[in-house]
Amino acid sequence: MRKCPVCGSEDTLLKNTRKYVAKYMNQQVSKELQQYTCSCCGADLDLEFEDKNEKLMKEAYETARGEKVSSILKEIEKQISFAELERSFALPPKTLSKWKNKSKSPSAAAAALISLICVFPWLSYVGFTDYDVKSAYKFAGVAFFKELSKNPDNFPFALSDENYSAIGVYQNKQTDYKEKLISSSCFGGNYVN
Ligand SMILES: [Zn+2]
Repeated sequence: MRKCPVCGSEDTLLKNTRKYVAKYMNQQVSKELQQYTCSCCGADLDLEFEDKNEKLMKEAYETARGEKVSSILKEIEKQISFAELERSFALPPKTLSKWKNKSKSPSAAAAALISLICVFPWLSYVGFTDYDVKSAYKFAGVAFFKELSKNPDNFPFALSDENYSAIGVYQNKQTDYKEKLISSSCFGGNYVN
C-alpha cells in the first residue's frame, strides 16, 4: 500500500504519463514521462521515475538544441564555408559538419556561439580580425545599415569617421527632420544612405 506524500491518502496513486516539451529557440522536442497522479488531491508525482524523467528531459533539451544548431548551420553554410568559419573561431576542422549532420552534439557553449551567429551573422568575421574591437564595430555598423535599409521608409545615416560621432535612422516620411539633419552644422559630415 502506498501513501500519497501530499495528502496522505492511501491507495490513491494511479500510474499515468505526461507530455514534456523541451524547447531551444523555436525547436521543440517532446517526450512522454511516467508519473503518478493522486486521485484524491490531484498531485502529479514522479516518485521512482524521478531520475529517469530528469534524464529524459535533459536528453530532450539536448536533442532540441542539436536539431536547432544543425538547421542554423544549414543556413549559415549558404553564406560562408565551414572551413572559413572554423578558421575564424579556431575550431577544429570538421567540427561544424559534425554538428550539422548530428554525428556529434554541440555543447551548451557551442550552441550559444552558433545561435549568436544566427542572430548576428557578421560575428562570423570577428575572429578573422583577431577580435579587434574597431573592426567588429565596423562589421556591426554595416550590418545595422543593411538591416534598417530593408524598410524603404527608413533613412539610416552616419558620419563616415572612425568613431561614428553621428549615427541613427529616421523615416523618409518625416521630411522636415531630414532637412533639419542635413542642414544642421553639428552633422556636417558625409552621410551614408
Ligand atoms: Zn494526494
